[in-house]
Amino acid sequence: MSKLPHVGTTIFTIMSKLANDTQAINLSQGFPNFPVDPILVNILRENASKNVHQYMPMTGFPDLLSKIGALIESSYGRSIDTQTELLITAGATQGIFTTILALVDQGQEVVVLDPSYDCYEPAILLAGGKAKRISLSSDFLPDWDLIYDSVNDSTRMLIINSPHNPSGRVWTVEDLEKLELLMAKYPHLLLLSDEVYEYITFEQKHTSINSRPAIVDRSIIISSFGKTFHITGWKMGYLVAPKHLMTEINKVHQFNVFSVNSVAQASLSTYLDHVDVSTLGAFYQKKRDLFQKLMAPSRFKLLPCEGTYFQTVDYSEISRLKDVDFCRELTIKHGVAAIPISVFNASQKDQKIIRFCFAKDDETLIKATELLCKI
Ligand code: PMP
Ligand code: GLN
Repeated sequence: MSKLPHVGTTIFTIMSKLANDTQAINLSQGFPNFPVDPILVNILRENASKNVHQYMPMTGFPDLLSKIGALIESSYGRSIDTQTELLITAGATQGIFTTILALVDQGQEVVVLDPSYDCYEPAILLAGGKAKRISLSSDFLPDWDLIYDSVNDSTRMLIINSPHNPSGRVWTVEDLEKLELLMAKYPHLLLLSDEVYEYITFEQKHTSINSRPAIVDRSIIISSFGKTFHITGWKMGYLVAPKHLMTEINKVHQFNVFSVNSVAQASLSTYLDHVDVSTLGAFYQKKRDLFQKLMAPSRFKLLPCEGTYFQTVDYSEISRLKDVDFCRELTIKHGVAAIPISVFNASQKDQKIIRFCFAKDDETLIKATELLCKI
Protein backbone atom coordinates (compact mmCIF):
# COMPACT_ATOMS: atom_id res chain seq x y z
CA MET A 1 0.00 0.00 0.00
CA SER A 2 1.31 3.42 -0.92
CA LYS A 3 0.16 6.58 0.85
CA LEU A 4 0.89 8.50 -2.35
CA PRO A 5 0.01 6.03 -5.12
CA HIS A 6 0.01 8.64 -7.90
CA VAL A 7 3.22 10.38 -6.89
CA GLY A 8 6.39 9.51 -8.77
CA THR A 9 9.84 11.12 -8.79
CA THR A 10 9.77 14.92 -9.14
CA ILE A 11 10.37 16.34 -12.59
CA PHE A 12 13.33 18.31 -11.19
CA THR A 13 15.16 15.12 -10.25
CA ILE A 14 14.26 13.45 -13.54
CA MET A 15 15.39 16.31 -15.77
CA SER A 16 18.58 17.13 -13.83
CA LYS A 17 19.58 13.46 -13.96
CA LEU A 18 18.90 13.30 -17.69
CA ALA A 19 20.92 16.48 -18.21
CA ASN A 20 23.83 15.01 -16.22
CA ASP A 21 23.65 11.63 -17.95
CA THR A 22 23.64 13.23 -21.40
CA GLN A 23 26.01 16.13 -20.54
CA ALA A 24 23.34 18.59 -21.64
CA ILE A 25 23.27 22.20 -20.42
CA ASN A 26 20.89 22.11 -17.48
CA LEU A 27 18.30 24.88 -17.70
CA SER A 28 15.69 22.62 -16.07
CA GLN A 29 15.77 22.46 -12.24
CA GLY A 30 15.89 25.98 -10.81
CA PHE A 31 19.27 26.71 -9.25
CA PRO A 32 22.01 29.26 -9.92
CA ASN A 33 25.32 28.02 -11.38
CA PHE A 34 27.40 31.07 -10.46
CA PRO A 35 29.39 31.46 -7.21
CA VAL A 36 27.60 32.71 -4.11
CA ASP A 37 28.61 36.03 -2.57
CA PRO A 38 32.20 35.69 -1.18
CA ILE A 39 31.11 37.72 1.87
CA LEU A 40 28.66 34.95 2.76
CA VAL A 41 31.31 32.27 2.20
CA ASN A 42 33.70 34.10 4.55
CA ILE A 43 31.03 34.48 7.22
CA LEU A 44 30.30 30.77 6.95
CA ARG A 45 34.01 29.95 7.26
CA GLU A 46 34.37 32.14 10.35
CA ASN A 47 31.28 30.67 11.95
CA ALA A 48 32.62 27.15 11.54
CA SER A 49 35.22 27.92 14.21
CA LYS A 50 32.75 29.53 16.61
CA ASN A 51 30.49 27.93 19.18
CA VAL A 52 27.43 27.60 16.93
CA HIS A 53 27.25 23.86 16.44
CA GLN A 54 24.54 22.82 18.87
CA TYR A 55 20.75 22.99 18.72
CA MET A 56 19.30 26.41 18.12
CA PRO A 57 16.08 27.45 19.90
CA MET A 58 13.15 25.70 18.28
CA THR A 59 11.68 28.61 16.32
CA GLY A 60 15.08 29.97 15.30
CA PHE A 61 18.27 31.80 16.29
CA PRO A 62 17.03 34.96 18.08
CA ASP A 63 19.43 37.27 16.16
CA LEU A 64 18.25 35.86 12.85
CA LEU A 65 14.60 36.18 13.88
CA SER A 66 15.04 39.86 14.69
CA LYS A 67 16.97 40.55 11.47
CA ILE A 68 14.20 38.92 9.43
CA GLY A 69 11.68 40.99 11.37
CA ALA A 70 13.62 44.12 10.34
CA LEU A 71 13.78 42.90 6.72
CA ILE A 72 10.00 42.41 6.60
CA GLU A 73 9.51 45.83 8.14
CA SER A 74 11.80 47.55 5.62
CA SER A 75 10.45 45.59 2.63
CA TYR A 76 6.74 45.72 3.40
CA GLY A 77 6.21 48.13 6.29
CA ARG A 78 4.82 45.34 8.49
CA SER A 79 5.98 44.98 12.05
CA ILE A 80 5.72 41.40 13.29
CA ASP A 81 6.31 39.86 16.70
CA THR A 82 9.39 37.78 15.91
CA GLN A 83 8.87 35.67 19.05
CA THR A 84 5.42 34.46 18.11
CA GLU A 85 4.86 35.09 14.39
CA LEU A 86 8.09 33.91 12.74
CA LEU A 87 9.59 30.45 12.22
CA ILE A 88 12.89 29.45 10.58
CA THR A 89 12.41 26.39 8.39
CA ALA A 90 14.58 23.94 6.48
CA GLY A 91 13.70 25.59 3.18
CA ALA A 92 10.30 26.67 1.95
CA THR A 93 9.39 23.03 1.31
CA GLN A 94 9.46 22.21 5.02
CA GLY A 95 7.55 25.41 5.81
CA ILE A 96 4.81 24.44 3.37
CA PHE A 97 4.68 20.81 4.51
CA THR A 98 4.60 21.71 8.21
CA THR A 99 1.92 24.35 7.70
CA ILE A 100 -0.35 22.03 5.76
CA LEU A 101 0.13 19.16 8.19
CA ALA A 102 -0.66 21.45 11.12
CA LEU A 103 -3.66 23.24 9.68
CA VAL A 104 -5.43 20.89 7.25
CA ASP A 105 -7.53 18.14 8.80
CA GLN A 106 -8.94 14.85 7.46
CA GLY A 107 -11.33 15.45 4.56
CA GLN A 108 -10.78 19.22 4.40
CA GLU A 109 -10.46 20.83 1.01
CA VAL A 110 -7.55 22.99 -0.15
CA VAL A 111 -7.84 24.95 -3.39
CA VAL A 112 -4.67 24.86 -5.49
CA LEU A 113 -4.11 26.85 -8.70
CA ASP A 114 -2.58 24.91 -11.59
CA PRO A 115 0.06 24.81 -12.89
CA SER A 116 1.13 24.46 -9.26
CA TYR A 117 4.48 23.78 -7.61
CA ASP A 118 4.72 20.08 -7.03
CA CYS A 119 5.08 19.90 -3.24
CA TYR A 120 1.62 21.26 -2.43
CA GLU A 121 -0.65 18.34 -3.27
CA PRO A 122 1.38 15.54 -1.61
CA ALA A 123 1.42 17.51 1.67
CA ILE A 124 -2.37 17.95 1.47
CA LEU A 125 -2.86 14.24 0.80
CA LEU A 126 -0.58 13.21 3.67
CA ALA A 127 -2.59 15.48 5.98
CA GLY A 128 -5.69 13.54 4.89
CA GLY A 129 -7.06 16.56 3.05
CA LYS A 130 -8.34 16.92 -0.49
CA ALA A 131 -6.66 19.07 -3.12
CA LYS A 132 -9.13 20.86 -5.38
CA ARG A 133 -6.88 21.76 -8.27
CA ILE A 134 -8.27 24.40 -10.60
CA SER A 135 -6.58 26.15 -13.50
CA LEU A 136 -5.09 29.57 -13.69
CA SER A 137 -6.05 31.36 -16.93
CA SER A 138 -4.28 30.21 -20.10
CA ASP A 139 -1.75 32.99 -19.56
CA PHE A 140 -1.14 31.85 -15.97
CA LEU A 141 -2.96 34.63 -14.12
CA PRO A 142 -5.76 34.06 -11.59
CA ASP A 143 -9.17 33.29 -13.08
CA TRP A 144 -11.26 34.98 -10.40
CA ASP A 145 -14.60 33.64 -11.65
CA LEU A 146 -13.31 30.10 -11.38
CA ILE A 147 -11.69 30.76 -7.99
CA TYR A 148 -14.94 32.25 -6.63
CA ASP A 149 -16.86 29.23 -8.00
CA SER A 150 -14.42 26.80 -6.39
CA VAL A 151 -14.19 28.19 -2.86
CA ASN A 152 -17.08 27.59 -0.46
CA ASP A 153 -17.83 27.83 3.25
CA SER A 154 -16.08 24.58 3.99
CA THR A 155 -12.86 25.30 2.05
CA ARG A 156 -10.04 25.22 4.60
CA MET A 157 -7.23 26.83 2.65
CA LEU A 158 -6.29 28.51 -0.62
CA ILE A 159 -2.68 28.24 -1.81
CA ILE A 160 -1.32 31.02 -3.97
CA ASN A 161 2.14 31.55 -5.48
CA SER A 162 3.29 34.88 -6.86
CA PRO A 163 5.83 35.47 -8.39
CA HIS A 164 4.73 32.23 -9.95
CA ASN A 165 6.74 29.11 -10.61
CA PRO A 166 6.66 27.82 -13.35
CA SER A 167 5.23 30.75 -15.37
CA GLY A 168 7.12 33.79 -14.06
CA ARG A 169 3.87 35.81 -13.87
CA VAL A 170 3.27 38.25 -11.00
CA TRP A 171 -0.12 39.07 -9.49
CA THR A 172 -1.29 42.68 -9.62
CA VAL A 173 -2.64 44.82 -6.79
CA GLU A 174 -6.10 44.33 -8.35
CA ASP A 175 -5.64 40.57 -7.96
CA LEU A 176 -4.89 41.06 -4.27
CA GLU A 177 -7.97 43.23 -3.90
CA LYS A 178 -10.07 40.44 -5.40
CA LEU A 179 -8.38 38.00 -3.04
CA GLU A 180 -9.28 40.21 -0.08
CA LEU A 181 -12.92 40.29 -1.18
CA LEU A 182 -12.88 36.49 -1.42
CA MET A 183 -11.42 36.19 2.07
CA ALA A 184 -13.97 38.66 3.42
CA LYS A 185 -16.73 36.50 1.96
CA TYR A 186 -15.31 33.35 3.59
CA PRO A 187 -14.18 34.35 7.09
CA HIS A 188 -12.79 30.89 7.93
CA LEU A 189 -10.65 30.52 4.81
CA LEU A 190 -6.88 30.36 5.42
CA LEU A 191 -4.35 31.56 2.87
CA LEU A 192 -0.97 29.96 2.24
CA SER A 193 1.05 32.44 0.19
CA ASP A 194 4.19 30.98 -1.35
CA GLU A 195 6.38 34.04 -1.94
CA VAL A 196 9.78 32.38 -2.37
CA TYR A 197 10.58 34.64 -5.38
CA GLU A 198 9.43 37.79 -3.54
CA TYR A 199 12.63 39.73 -4.33
CA ILE A 200 12.92 38.58 -7.96
CA THR A 201 10.55 40.80 -9.91
CA PHE A 202 11.12 43.12 -12.84
CA GLU A 203 8.85 45.82 -14.31
CA GLN A 204 5.83 44.59 -12.33
CA LYS A 205 6.67 44.70 -8.61
CA HIS A 206 5.69 42.05 -6.07
CA THR A 207 2.92 42.85 -3.60
CA SER A 208 3.40 40.70 -0.52
CA ILE A 209 0.57 39.50 1.66
CA ASN A 210 2.70 41.09 4.40
CA SER A 211 1.48 44.43 3.07
CA ARG A 212 -2.24 43.48 3.14
CA PRO A 213 -3.38 44.03 6.76
CA ALA A 214 -6.96 42.96 5.99
CA ILE A 215 -5.88 39.33 5.52
CA VAL A 216 -2.58 38.84 7.38
CA ASP A 217 -4.34 37.40 10.43
CA ARG A 218 -5.39 34.38 8.31
CA SER A 219 -2.30 34.08 6.14
CA ILE A 220 0.85 32.00 6.27
CA ILE A 221 3.61 33.56 4.17
CA ILE A 222 6.46 31.39 2.94
CA SER A 223 9.97 32.63 2.03
CA SER A 224 13.22 30.96 0.98
CA PHE A 225 16.80 32.11 1.49
CA GLY A 226 17.67 29.61 -1.24
CA LYS A 227 16.24 31.95 -3.89
CA THR A 228 17.15 35.27 -2.32
CA PHE A 229 20.83 34.48 -1.62
CA HIS A 230 21.55 31.95 -4.43
CA ILE A 231 21.95 29.11 -1.90
CA THR A 232 19.30 26.54 -2.86
CA GLY A 233 21.41 23.73 -1.37
CA TRP A 234 21.40 25.23 2.11
CA LYS A 235 17.66 24.52 2.42
CA MET A 236 16.91 27.54 4.60
CA GLY A 237 13.70 29.52 4.69
CA TYR A 238 11.13 31.02 7.03
CA LEU A 239 7.44 31.54 7.44
CA VAL A 240 5.30 34.25 8.95
CA ALA A 241 1.95 33.40 10.51
CA PRO A 242 -0.32 34.92 13.15
CA LYS A 243 0.22 33.60 16.66
CA HIS A 244 -2.92 31.44 16.82
CA LEU A 245 -1.87 29.56 13.67
CA MET A 246 1.83 29.53 14.58
CA THR A 247 1.01 27.73 17.84
CA GLU A 248 -0.32 24.82 15.77
CA ILE A 249 2.49 25.04 13.18
CA ASN A 250 5.07 24.85 15.98
CA LYS A 251 3.50 21.69 17.36
CA VAL A 252 4.35 19.97 14.07
CA HIS A 253 7.65 21.77 13.53
CA GLN A 254 9.05 20.61 16.87
CA PHE A 255 8.57 16.99 15.86
CA ASN A 256 9.49 17.04 12.20
CA VAL A 257 12.73 19.03 12.53
CA PHE A 258 12.74 20.56 16.03
CA SER A 259 15.18 23.28 14.91
CA VAL A 260 17.10 24.19 11.78
CA ASN A 261 20.84 24.10 10.90
CA SER A 262 22.67 26.24 13.46
CA VAL A 263 25.72 27.29 11.41
CA ALA A 264 23.51 28.37 8.53
CA GLN A 265 21.25 30.38 10.86
CA ALA A 266 24.18 32.16 12.51
CA SER A 267 25.75 32.90 9.11
CA LEU A 268 22.55 34.24 7.54
CA SER A 269 22.03 36.44 10.55
CA THR A 270 25.43 38.12 10.05
CA TYR A 271 25.03 38.20 6.27
CA LEU A 272 21.75 40.12 6.51
CA ASP A 273 23.83 43.10 7.75
CA HIS A 274 25.89 43.03 4.53
CA VAL A 275 23.33 42.52 1.80
CA ASP A 276 20.68 44.59 0.06
CA VAL A 277 17.86 42.39 -1.24
CA SER A 278 16.40 45.27 -3.23
CA THR A 279 19.17 44.83 -5.84
CA LEU A 280 18.14 41.24 -6.65
CA GLY A 281 15.43 42.19 -9.13
CA ALA A 282 17.86 44.24 -11.25
CA PHE A 283 20.47 41.45 -11.02
CA TYR A 284 18.07 38.87 -12.49
CA GLN A 285 16.48 41.34 -14.91
CA LYS A 286 19.86 41.62 -16.64
CA LYS A 287 19.94 37.84 -17.00
CA ARG A 288 16.35 37.71 -18.23
CA ASP A 289 17.04 40.44 -20.78
CA LEU A 290 20.19 38.71 -22.02
CA PHE A 291 18.39 35.38 -22.32
CA GLN A 292 15.45 36.99 -24.15
CA LYS A 293 17.78 38.85 -26.54
CA LEU A 294 19.74 35.70 -27.32
CA MET A 295 16.52 33.71 -27.83
CA ALA A 296 14.89 36.32 -30.09
CA PRO A 297 16.13 34.75 -33.38
CA SER A 298 14.93 31.26 -32.31
CA ARG A 299 11.65 29.63 -33.31
CA PHE A 300 10.56 29.52 -29.66
CA LYS A 301 7.91 32.08 -28.72
CA LEU A 302 8.84 33.83 -25.47
CA LEU A 303 6.00 34.32 -23.00
CA PRO A 304 5.82 37.16 -20.44
CA CYS A 305 8.34 36.89 -17.61
CA GLU A 306 7.64 39.38 -14.81
CA GLY A 307 9.44 37.64 -11.96
CA THR A 308 11.29 34.47 -10.79
CA TYR A 309 14.29 33.16 -12.74
CA PHE A 310 12.19 31.19 -15.19
CA GLN A 311 11.37 31.99 -18.80
CA THR A 312 8.50 30.04 -20.36
CA VAL A 313 8.42 29.50 -24.11
CA ASP A 314 5.86 28.12 -26.56
CA TYR A 315 7.45 25.59 -28.94
CA SER A 316 4.35 24.81 -31.03
CA GLU A 317 6.05 26.12 -34.21
CA ILE A 318 8.85 23.61 -33.73
CA SER A 319 7.20 20.35 -32.71
CA ARG A 320 3.89 18.59 -32.11
CA LEU A 321 5.40 16.36 -29.42
CA LYS A 322 3.91 16.47 -25.91
CA ASP A 323 5.90 18.80 -23.67
CA VAL A 324 7.33 15.94 -21.59
CA ASP A 325 8.58 14.18 -24.74
CA PHE A 326 9.77 17.43 -26.25
CA CYS A 327 11.89 18.13 -23.15
CA ARG A 328 13.46 14.68 -23.40
CA GLU A 329 14.23 15.24 -27.08
CA LEU A 330 15.57 18.72 -26.39
CA THR A 331 17.94 17.32 -23.78
CA ILE A 332 19.11 14.22 -25.63
CA LYS A 333 19.21 15.54 -29.22
CA HIS A 334 19.90 19.23 -28.78
CA GLY A 335 21.84 19.33 -25.49
CA VAL A 336 19.65 21.67 -23.43
CA ALA A 337 17.40 20.51 -20.58
CA ALA A 338 14.12 22.27 -19.71
CA ILE A 339 11.02 21.58 -17.60
CA PRO A 340 7.66 20.66 -19.18
CA ILE A 341 4.72 22.60 -17.72
CA SER A 342 2.05 19.89 -18.03
CA VAL A 343 3.44 18.00 -15.02
CA PHE A 344 2.24 20.86 -12.79
CA ASN A 345 -1.36 20.40 -13.98
CA ALA A 346 -3.59 17.81 -12.29
CA SER A 347 -5.08 17.15 -15.74
CA GLN A 348 -1.56 16.99 -17.31
CA LYS A 349 -2.93 19.58 -19.79
CA ASP A 350 -0.29 20.14 -22.44
CA GLN A 351 -0.03 23.71 -23.76
CA LYS A 352 3.24 23.10 -25.67
CA ILE A 353 4.98 25.33 -23.18
CA ILE A 354 8.26 24.59 -21.40
CA ARG A 355 10.34 26.44 -18.79
CA PHE A 356 13.99 27.47 -18.92
CA CYS A 357 15.94 28.60 -15.83
CA PHE A 358 18.09 31.66 -16.59
CA ALA A 359 19.84 31.79 -13.17
CA LYS A 360 23.09 30.97 -14.97
CA ASP A 361 26.34 32.71 -15.84
CA ASP A 362 26.46 34.51 -19.19
CA GLU A 363 28.66 31.85 -20.77
CA THR A 364 26.07 29.14 -20.03
CA LEU A 365 23.22 31.28 -21.35
CA ILE A 366 25.18 32.03 -24.54
CA LYS A 367 26.05 28.37 -25.15
CA ALA A 368 22.52 27.16 -24.44
CA THR A 369 20.85 29.75 -26.67
CA GLU A 370 23.26 29.00 -29.53
CA LEU A 371 21.97 25.43 -29.42
CA LEU A 372 18.32 26.50 -29.05
CA CYS A 373 18.52 28.93 -31.97
CA LYS A 374 19.64 26.11 -34.31
CA ILE A 375 16.42 24.13 -33.75
N1 PMP B 1 7.91 27.04 -3.69
C1 PMP B 1 8.27 27.35 -4.95
C2 PMP B 1 7.31 28.06 -5.82
C3 PMP B 1 9.53 26.97 -5.41
O1 PMP B 1 9.89 27.25 -6.66
C4 PMP B 1 10.40 26.29 -4.55
C5 PMP B 1 11.76 25.79 -4.98
N2 PMP B 1 12.32 26.29 -5.98
C6 PMP B 1 9.99 26.01 -3.25
C7 PMP B 1 8.73 26.40 -2.85
C8 PMP B 1 10.88 25.28 -2.30
O2 PMP B 1 11.89 26.08 -1.82
P1 PMP B 1 13.09 25.51 -0.93
O3 PMP B 1 14.14 25.05 -1.86
O4 PMP B 1 13.51 26.66 -0.08
O5 PMP B 1 12.51 24.38 -0.13
N1 GLN C 1 12.02 24.87 -7.15
C1 GLN C 1 13.00 24.40 -8.07
C2 GLN C 1 12.44 24.52 -9.47
O1 GLN C 1 11.35 24.92 -9.66
C3 GLN C 1 13.37 22.96 -7.83
C4 GLN C 1 13.45 22.52 -6.42
C5 GLN C 1 13.61 21.04 -6.35
O2 GLN C 1 14.32 20.46 -7.13
N2 GLN C 1 12.93 20.43 -5.44
O3 GLN C 1 13.11 24.17 -10.39
